[in-house]
Amino acid sequence: MRTRACLNCKEYILIHPNNPVSQKMVKEFELSHMRHNLMTVDLEEIKGQYKRYDLKDESLENNDGLPLKIS
Ligand SMILES: [Zn+2]
Repeated sequence: MRTRACLNCKEYILIHPNNPVSQKMVKEFELSHMRHNLMTVDLEEIKGQYKRYDLKDESLENNDGLPLKIS
């Protein structure tokens, strides 16, 4: 699975290409890290080192791990 990751903050967000809510969250993530070094990387490469940005509120998730809404 692909993620968008910030090298400065060690945070990442999962990319669900066909989920418009996810696309919005990726945009939001990019905006909040605008002056940082962002990369698109496979989850396996950063797992355990980076923390997940979209898991701050677990109610955003359904059972498939897809975000349901933007707070
Ligand atoms: Zn950042």
